[in-house]
Amino acid sequence: MEDNSQNIKDKYKDKDNARLSQDFRDAVGTISKEGKRNYIFPQKPNGKLYHLRSYFSYVYLVLFFSLPFIKIEGEPMFLFNVLERKFIFFGQVFWPQDFFIFAIGLLTFLVFVILFTVAFGRLFCGWACPQTIFMEMVFRKIEYWIEGDHNQQRKLKAMAWNAEKIRKRLTKIIAFFLVSFLIANFFLGYIIGIDRVGLMIQEGIMIHFGVFSSLLIFTFIFFFVYYWFREQVCLIVCPYGRLQGVLLDRNSIVVAYDYIRGEPRGKLSEVKETKGDCINCSACVRVCPTGIDIRNGTQLECVNCTACIDACDAIMDHIDKPKGLIRYASENNITKKEQTKYTWRLKLYSGVLLLLLSFLAVLLITRDDVSARVLRTPGQMYQKLPDGRVSNLYNIKLANKTRKLIHLELKLENIEGEINLINHVNVPAESYYQTSFFIILKKDKIKKRKTEIKIGLYEDGERIETTKAMFLAPAL
Ligand code: SF4
Ligand code: SF4
Repeated sequence: MEDNSQNIKDKYKDKDNARLSQDFRDAVGTISKEGKRNYIFPQKPNGKLYHLRSYFSYVYLVLFFSLPFIKIEGEPMFLFNVLERKFIFFGQVFWPQDFFIFAIGLLTFLVFVILFTVAFGRLFCGWACPQTIFMEMVFRKIEYWIEGDHNQQRKLKAMAWNAEKIRKRLTKIIAFFLVSFLIANFFLGYIIGIDRVGLMIQEGIMIHFGVFSSLLIFTFIFFFVYYWFREQVCLIVCPYGRLQGVLLDRNSIVVAYDYIRGEPRGKLSEVKETKGDCINCSACVRVCPTGIDIRNGTQLECVNCTACIDACDAIMDHIDKPKGLIRYASENNITKKEQTKYTWRLKLYSGVLLLLLSFLAVLLITRDDVSARVLRTPGQMYQKLPDGRVSNLYNIKLANKTRKLIHLELKLENIEGEINLINHVNVPAESYYQTSFFIILKKDKIKKRKTEIKIGLYEDGERIETTKAMFLAPAL
């Protein structure tokens, strides 16, 4: 027993394991011991990375607010109309018939996310996630502007309701609501098209009550998320954050505290003599928008926002120590001083990604402009004509994925016979079209009771699609 406790003490003395000696929590940082919300008041970040992230966010915001207005041949460049099941990516229209491409696209994206995360951790969360961009770069900045930095915000919260508190809270609510309303307009613009949103504004709410209701619902959701829910989206809602535990390894680059260099931490006077570089100033903790201490290691809550890197670099500058006590690094960078490696795991994911990308490219290149589905009309068997020929009635469902009207001609490809169309096949642009037709075969051409028939769809004499159907005949 004595030996064992001595071993434990030795282990804690070991510099590599010094961080284990820190108190570690087993609950989410934003939930108090009583199970209540720990509201975070992060200090306003400042530093090179914060400024760089701000510039990135300006680009994203300009893109977000301008893309709905960019059109290709009169259609938006991007549209995610789930209601009408119409999707446009980079000007290309996709329909539910393209589900296979969509599924492969999603799979490719998933593998890309895995590969990216294994290599760079949650870089996306800090630098490109819309939640972080809107929260940290839009709403948080408005909040600092209205309520001041973290200490003033804390004071305001603790203060009894008076004129100042009412004015500031009201201003914040109005500002947050207006920005949420603006975002909701554009968000809806990505779903139904910005023209329809504009039409609603011109023609009035009552005519477009459904659209207006959706707009209000989105506005309240955004308002709720950015006013109150905030970092909880990343901690308890976002599935990507939860995946980190299984995706990261010792070679993944994350925002990390160099505990080899920093520990044992101590006050500035002690550091100069014998201890590590961390002066226990808590600057890195004060700026963290998810309320964690990065010195406890990689944690579920860390969105890699880099605020703690900036804060610690400023402190290191101040005490004449090299920057980078908190930096982008892997566990192996820190413990073994190893350079970032292209590991077998990364190679494997890269290989799978390459395969999927090639497959996706083939699918996109060979994607048909028209998709057709031919089915024998339900309840109909076959008809014997007076001249001895046999006919079958079919329904054809067509989807025109292009932006022009298509006139189609139907031809039998593998058997001699006749097609009698009930209507001309003129499929309007970006639409579905349905009609019926007869296939009539001479008796001597029918060899079996069930014959597979290939039907070619021709536009201007050029075959653009071939589809199959079954022809039924009386028993021979
Ligand atoms: S900011 Fe740097 S020095 Fe200060 S507590 Fe954090 S890691 Fe230590
Ligand atoms: S630990 Fe650092 S990088 Fe992670 S969320 Fe907090 S401040 Fe951002």
